[in-house]
Amino acid sequence: MRAWVVDRPGPMASRPLALIEREVPEPGPGEVLVRVEACGVCRTDLHLAEGDLAPRRPRTSPGHQAVGRVEGTGERVGVAWLRSTCGTCPYCRRGMENLCPSSAYTGWDADGGYADYLVAPADYVHPLPGDVPAERLAPLLCAGIIGYRALARCDLPAGGRLGIYGFGASAHLTAQAAIAQGAVVHAVTRSAASRELALELGAASAGDRPPEPLDAAILFAPVGDLVPAALEALDRGGTLAIAGIHLTDVPVLNYERHLFQERTLRSVTANTRADGRAYLELALAHPPRVTTVPYPFEEAGRALADLAAGQVNGAAVLVKD
Ligand SMILES: [Zn+2]
Ligand SMILES: [Zn+2]
Repeated sequence: MRAWVVDRPGPMASRPLALIEREVPEPGPGEVLVRVEACGVCRTDLHLAEGDLAPRRPRTSPGHQAVGRVEGTGERVGVAWLRSTCGTCPYCRRGMENLCPSSAYTGWDADGGYADYLVAPADYVHPLPGDVPAERLAPLLCAGIIGYRALARCDLPAGGRLGIYGFGASAHLTAQAAIAQGAVVHAVTRSAASRELALELGAASAGDRPPEPLDAAILFAPVGDLVPAALEALDRGGTLAIAGIHLTDVPVLNYERHLFQERTLRSVTANTRADGRAYLELALAHPPRVTTVPYPFEEAGRALADLAAGQVNGAAVLVKD
């Protein structure tokens, strides 16, 4: 089978990915073999390719938004970022399996969906409908689920004002979930195309800064320099949640300007299976508009380079012919 692997982590210009031929993997006990139909391209894949996240094993296939069919049964499933947890540690036992110290991740600890097939633990795959195009389902698996957790983590009050910093794949789904809940969404992004998309999806504003104080905000851009301004834009009692797995350094904060008046700064770390189930149930019952940018499977490198250059408006997805 064909598989993209992270060969030599480095800037996209150094071509860190290689397309290789390898054996179709054998599912172990409790695992399923999935024939991949489409796989979403996430910024985390870019962090893995470029080495911002250190490799955990050599020549691993990235990709944790894989939609495919289970070999043997034909069941449609999605394979997301959270690959497995221990089930017995204090975090797992209190419903915080996203914090399990023994958790493993698709496309980092094990081969992911930038390949013709992958194996995954059956207990961690998400059942998906067979009659929706794979390209539309793939971005739900990380962009959607992580955005959903970030929305929960930012404690947005009912009808509140939400700032969204960076307007990529996850933001465009999260904005829709928030607007459906009655939130007033302000998108902060430099990209003209992303501003247009945000306004089309119902954002109240899209520009360089929010036009009013915010009750909550989510930082999707992996840029620590944005944290002070995002905290300053919060109203009293507001919360800023950082959605990404990687963030450049946060500049020195000033207590009075950035945190006093009970403003809160929070991270978002992966997701639980319950987050995944809750979001997918919502997204399948009330399908969001999923703006995808399809790339042929053979062009994974180009998809990641475009993402690095900020040239993807919506969610990039690798699709098979
Ligand atoms: Zn992701
Ligand atoms: Zn655990």
